[in-house]
Parts: sequence; structure tokens; C-alpha cells
Amino acid sequence: PELVFSGVQPTGNLHLGNYLGAIKRFVTLQDTRPCIYCVVDLHAMTLPHEPAQLARTTREVTAAFIACGIDPGRNAIFNQSRVAEHAELAWALDCVARMGWLNRMTQFKDKAGKDRENASVGLFNYPVLMAADILIYRATHVPVGDDQKQHLELARDVAQKFNNDFAESIAAHGHGEAFFPLPEPVILGPATRVMSLRDGSKKMSKSDTSENSYIALTDDADTIVQKIRKAKTDPEPLPGHLDGLAGRPEAENLVGIFAALTDRSKADIVHEFGGSQFSAFKTALADVTIEKLTPIRTEMARLAADPGYVDTVLAEGAEKARAIARPNMDAVKDILGLIR
Ligand code: ATP
Ligand code: MG
Repeated sequence: PELVFSGVQPTGNLHLGNYLGAIKRFVTLQDTRPCIYCVVDLHAMTLPHEPAQLARTTREVTAAFIACGIDPGRNAIFNQSRVAEHAELAWALDCVARMGWLNRMTQFKDKAGKDRENASVGLFNYPVLMAADILIYRATHVPVGDDQKQHLELARDVAQKFNNDFAESIAAHGHGEAFFPLPEPVILGPATRVMSLRDGSKKMSKSDTSENSYIALTDDADTIVQKIRKAKTDPEPLPGHLDGLAGRPEAENLVGIFAALTDRSKADIVHEFGGSQFSAFKTALADVTIEKLTPIRTEMARLAADPGYVDTVLAEGAEKARAIARPNMDAVKDILGLIR
């Protein structure tokens, strides 16, 4: 059966990139298949973290999921650490994944920085835990931003190697040819990689220290106007054709954001704004951003005042998730020869 899984880290302020690249897709997919949406608190511990803040941002991301339109009644929304099977399967998959595979992961290189010897083992192992997040549900579709494509490929490699290495035992336990489906990345739309507003070569990130680099889901109208006005651009007016965006990453980024927010194509946007100065385009972009984000911000504020409700969603979501994860973990144990 088809099943959607994805996660978001409670590492800070959710931004437009998280919304357009991931959460907006989560909302669409809930009409097509059963979905499991996870606040991945275990991943958020791979870099130094502050405990009180982790608990707060976990509730905040949960509220954002709901505010953006994910229905907690139809889907499972929960925090990862609540369902111990994620960490349990991660160990089994650690023994399947190869050091060489992980050594090639660009997110580790980016996040570890220069002092790689001092990075946590968890940061290195992040992609295996992510593979476990997906495979513990035997999920088939994983909506993510473009930056997670490499990790998804690794999850497929891990699933494939598990299926091959234990093929005989998998068949002997009645699971046929393969136990894990190879999860498909769902990377769609005109804004799969939203770039920093300050630097067209860097993706927009929660962990970015410059607040002007991202638009947070909690930014008010004035802040949105200011940040978009200050966004880096080049001196040329907007081109009338898509070809004209080549070599202009900042322009392309703003056009992509406009297109994604309004559910139009980039071609359509340049057709409308071709020849305009950025000042005029930025005013229109701020308007559509405010229009989309204001109801989300309002609903997040309402939910922040009702932590009891958010906690109930997380508890009930964890129950639903565990009901799928536990039998799958038991099957993995049987396949691996672990007595239970
Ligand atoms: P961090 O800097 O802590 O890694 P992040 O902004 O990258 O935070 P994640 O929690 O790592 O956020 O990712 C959540 C989801 O948002 C993932 O599917 C990821 O691919 C997507 N995503 C993150 N940044 C962007 C972006 N700039 N554009 C599009 N999608 C993004
Ligand atoms: Mg990230």
C-alpha cells in the first residue's frame, strides 16, 4: 500500500523554504494517500541544542503543520522520539549502510564545517536515522525539498542492500522478494530549493544566523515587506522570458517564490513582470507573501495559546504511528535473527 512519510526538524523558525519545498506539498498529498508527518526531534540533537528550546520548537513545528492545513484527524502528526522504533531500526540500518556512502553526504560536510573531527557521531549518522524514519513505515513517497535528494537516494540504497543481504530470510518469513519498498522522492513545484534572500548561492535555512536571509512563517506584514525590500537583486529589470533568468540566481529565486505562492508557473510570472524594475516586483511579491502567510501566522498564534491541544495531537499521532512501526520492527527482528 502507498504511504507518505516526511519530517521537519524543530531547529528554529520555520521559513518560506520549508513551507514551499515541504509543508505545502504535505498538505496536497493528504488528499491522495495516508500520510505520516513527523517533527524529527532526534535529528535536531545532532547539532548542539538547548533542551527547553527543543521542547518549545517541537510544539511550534506541530502548530505550523496544523496551521498550514495538515489535518491531524486524517494523518499522523507526532514527534519522532516518542516512537522508539525509529531509533531501534536506525541501529539495524547502521549495520547495513557503509561508511563510504555516508562520507559522500554533502549535508554533513556543510553542517560539520571545517572542524569535522569535532562533529557529533549523530550528525554523521543523520542520513541513516532518516532512512529509518521512512523505512520503519515502509513508506513509498517522501515529499522533501531538493536539498534532501541525496539523503533519499541513500535511503533507497539502504533499503535495497537490506533486501539483497537478507533476501533468503525475507522470503522464509513470508515477505516475498523484498521487505522494504524503495521510497520515491516527491520533489515538485517551482520552489524546491528556495535560496537565501541575502545570498543566491545558499539555500534558505532555519539555522542561518542572519534573520534577513529568510522569511519566517511567524513574520508579520511589516517584517515581510522589509525583508523582501532588502533582498539581494541585480540591477537589470526582470526578463520577459525564462531564458533571461539564467545566471541571475537572486532574480530566479524571487520569481520561483512568487510562482509557488500563487500556484502559477515561473514562465507565467516573467511573462507578467518582464521589463519591470525589482522595486515594483518586490512590492507585488510582498503582497502575495503577506496574503499567504497571515492566516498561517494567526492560526499558529492561536495554537500557541492552546498547548494542551497540540500535546494531544502529538500523543494521538504517536499512537497511530506506533501501530504501524511496531509490527514492521518485529518483522525486521525476525528477518535479522533477533529473538523477541
Ligand atoms: P536546518 O538548517 O536546521 O537543517 P532547514 O531549513 O534545512 O533547517 P529541515 O528541517 O532540515 O529545515 O528540512 C525540512 C524540510 O524543508 C525538508 O524537506 C527540506 O528539504 C525542506 N527545505 C529546507 N530548506 C529548504 C529550502 N531552502 N527550499 C526548499 N525546501 C527546503
Ligand atoms: Mg535542513
